[in-house]
Amino acid sequence: MIALDRRKALGLAASLPVAASLTGLGASGAHGAEVPSGSGAGSGASWDLTDLFPDTQAWDAARKAVLAALPRLSAYKGTLGTSAQALARALDDISMIKLKAMRVYVYSSLQADEDVRAPAPQEREAQARDMFSQMGQATAWVDPEVLDLGEETIERFIAENETLTRRFAFPLRDTLRRAEHILDDQGEAILASASAALAGPGSVRDQLVASDIPWPTITLSDGREVRLDAQGYSHSRDADNRADRKRVFDSYWSAFKGYEGSLGAALAAKLKGDVFEAENRGYESCLAMALAANRIPEGVYRSLVAEVNAGLPQLHRYFQLRRRMLKLPDIHYYDIYPPLVQMDRTFTLGDMRNVALDALKPLGRDYVRLMGEATAKKWMDPFPRPGKRAGAYMNGAVYDVHPYLLLNLSESFDGVSTFVHEWGHAMHTLIAAKAQPYETARYPTFLAEIASTANEVFLTEYMLERAKTKEEKLYYLGMRLEGLRGTFYRQTMFAEFELKIHEMAEAGEGLSGASISRVYGEILRRYHGADFIIDAPYEMEWAMIGHFYRFFYVYQYATSITAGTWFARSVLDGGTAERENFLGVLRAGGSDYPTDILKRAGLDMASPQPYRDLVAGFGQTLDEIEALLDA
Ligand SMILES: [Zn+2]
Repeated sequence: MIALDRRKALGLAASLPVAASLTGLGASGAHGAEVPSGSGAGSGASWDLTDLFPDTQAWDAARKAVLAALPRLSAYKGTLGTSAQALARALDDISMIKLKAMRVYVYSSLQADEDVRAPAPQEREAQARDMFSQMGQATAWVDPEVLDLGEETIERFIAENETLTRRFAFPLRDTLRRAEHILDDQGEAILASASAALAGPGSVRDQLVASDIPWPTITLSDGREVRLDAQGYSHSRDADNRADRKRVFDSYWSAFKGYEGSLGAALAAKLKGDVFEAENRGYESCLAMALAANRIPEGVYRSLVAEVNAGLPQLHRYFQLRRRMLKLPDIHYYDIYPPLVQMDRTFTLGDMRNVALDALKPLGRDYVRLMGEATAKKWMDPFPRPGKRAGAYMNGAVYDVHPYLLLNLSESFDGVSTFVHEWGHAMHTLIAAKAQPYETARYPTFLAEIASTANEVFLTEYMLERAKTKEEKLYYLGMRLEGLRGTFYRQTMFAEFELKIHEMAEAGEGLSGASISRVYGEILRRYHGADFIIDAPYEMEWAMIGHFYRFFYVYQYATSITAGTWFARSVLDGGTAERENFLGVLRAGGSDYPTDILKRAGLDMASPQPYRDLVAGFGQTLDEIEALLDA
């Protein structure tokens, strides 16, 4: 996902890009064969960064050229109101320099991720960040000047000038829309100077989790020793041996429990900072401020939470099915991670590509042809390597070149999922770039996970149709349930918790580690049902979720899988019209507000229906599994 920064600059000034989609999926299993090597950097990465710059000398020359252009951009200050042509010329120049700066930044960032241990690329990335912050300073005057010109003048200029109409109308209007929540110069200066202090609680939390909490080391039943930090926990929590996973959970969450007070104080201080900013900007609530950034109606958040709650009986049914399939006498929180069915089928990179191109045929010949061409090029670094950045992302920020993908594929089905997911991002980027000018090609976070999750639906459907054994069918159906549990139900549980603690902070209720755990424990138990046993230390789970420091971010995972599934189902069940409808969403990029783009495609995210459809599909998958088990 693209990081959402609520303190980001408004639409027109330059701000630092962030790599899209850090899914953190599948980072196990070394695999190195069959991929042509050679970015020439000697790191072993197989993407070709020479599409961006032939070498680091050329990169440095481009960086200096961007810096040299900054005085010219500053000099436009005070000229935007002269005429429509003057406004268009200034915005075009700024935009084109920003595009050059983006290429400089992305090159350095990708190279730094090839080997996070190598100092020289990290230094170049720092130089590129510095270039961006200088560019931000050189263009910080743009939004205030647009606001000063006012709606009437801006609308007249847009009507008079073709460049403004075609490329800048949406960002200009979006800047004007925010006017009522932008303070005067002094107010903005105070908020800007408070931002470092407001970021403090997040640093305290990171410091505690990364280094201060003494993570325990335990011995598993096979004699293996595991240090239970975040990585050790996520590798061991699905242990086959039930006593092992109970020990993993007990030890890990007890370690958090010892720091409940400090972790709670950090989160409570962060919430106070959110309330401070929302109040000073004149928003009714923190939620209102968060949703205003992309004009998301509050009904989207409310419908999501209400419908997920209404759909909890299906989730509880899933837990009882899980108990049955894992042959357990009862079900505890430490039983949620072991896979329902094991499958040892492996896939090479070539297999993954063939499966993806075949599975995505419902999207049409043009889509498959474009993806076939793109996946044959050296845009992707697919496999893990010592020193390489973990996780998976697609970076599509260089509009005039092409997307790059950093993956850490395993050879299992999980690797195939990651492949189609990240290529879903890349295809969204390519299709939007073809249809949109640079200024409106970049889609917001609310839309960013729709193409990727839709691709996962196509993949699962394809695999199910071709599954040869009952076990294989059960495996894919189980993966679908796990995906919906983790992304639809669980992220909405986080979203509900995040809203609840913000409301408590807004009401002036004193929040402590103990009261936060109580709130989290209540929601956790409600989501898992009366027959599910959750022991007290597991109420500390909130402390592990770093996303709670990213301000109403997590709900977008749940809305995205809802929308992605809705579109995939409509394409699979429909014809050309449904397919074109979905491709139209991809082509729209960031040319309008996200919920408006979806509404034009027939999907109203504020209505209960798409969430009800998803819950119904979850129930049908449960029916299918039960039928297979009873057969
Ligand atoms: Zn993603």
